[in-house]
Amino acid sequence: LLQTTGLNKRFGGLHVTNDVDLALQEGEIHCLIGPNGAGKSTLFRLILGVYAPSGGHILYAGQDITALRPFQRIRMGISVKFQVPGIFQALSTRQNLEIALQHHIERHRLDAETDRLLEFLDLRNSASQPAGNLSHGQKQWLEIGMAVALKPRLLLLDEPTAGMSPQETHATGELLKALNADGVTVLAVEHDMEFVRQVAHTVTVLHLGRIFAQGSIDTIVADERVAEIYLGESHD
Ligand code: ATP
Ligand code: MG
Repeated sequence: LLQTTGLNKRFGGLHVTNDVDLALQEGEIHCLIGPNGAGKSTLFRLILGVYAPSGGHILYAGQDITALRPFQRIRMGISVKFQVPGIFQALSTRQNLEIALQHHIERHRLDAETDRLLEFLDLRNSASQPAGNLSHGQKQWLEIGMAVALKPRLLLLDEPTAGMSPQETHATGELLKALNADGVTVLAVEHDMEFVRQVAHTVTVLHLGRIFAQGSIDTIVADERVAEIYLGESHD
């Protein structure tokens, strides 16, 4: 579904994305892991088109989208939840979802679709509260919901479980699996290896802007070279 070929991004002398060839099969949950500063969020921005690459190409659904603008990519079914939250804190949970849904849902279906999404996200009881009052985990869910509201074919999630309790993290994994069963292909940046084990079909390790290793979670966990790049790193 998605393929990057020789993807590069430089900021001045800093080579942040270095010849990345990443292939995502339609229907898979693919987790992207790697130490802080590896270039994971940059890769997401390149895929959505927030950054223009310094070199290389991005193919999506058989089409070269490298020159397309973000809104065109979103219209083609690519949706992103970024690492930094982007909800409207003063609006209610319901209103936030309505904003995301209204792009492609007719007015007469909006209430029913919003209810369905609130149910799916387990946020029905907080529907009328300002989103700013939600717990950290609920805010993350709301953000995932806003990305899902765009009816993506490819969903990119940058650290969807950051700051969540183990229970919330597990519930997020089940949420992703349900979406995936509905046909959504997922690329998720994750630090939580339990979560990766729970959801990932394929794992890619990014290190210093390059693809360092790729395979099943078992292959990656057993790879001593991968353990070494994490030495000296600390994650919450
Ligand atoms: P983390 O796990 O901490 O989220 P990451 O893998 O997402 O890290 P990136 O945010 O992609 O890493 O950053 C990779 C490198 O690129 C870092 O050294 C960062 O400082 C640099 N970088 C990212 N965006 C810019 C920018 N707009 N200008 C200059 N340097 C940048
Ligand atoms: Mg990041």
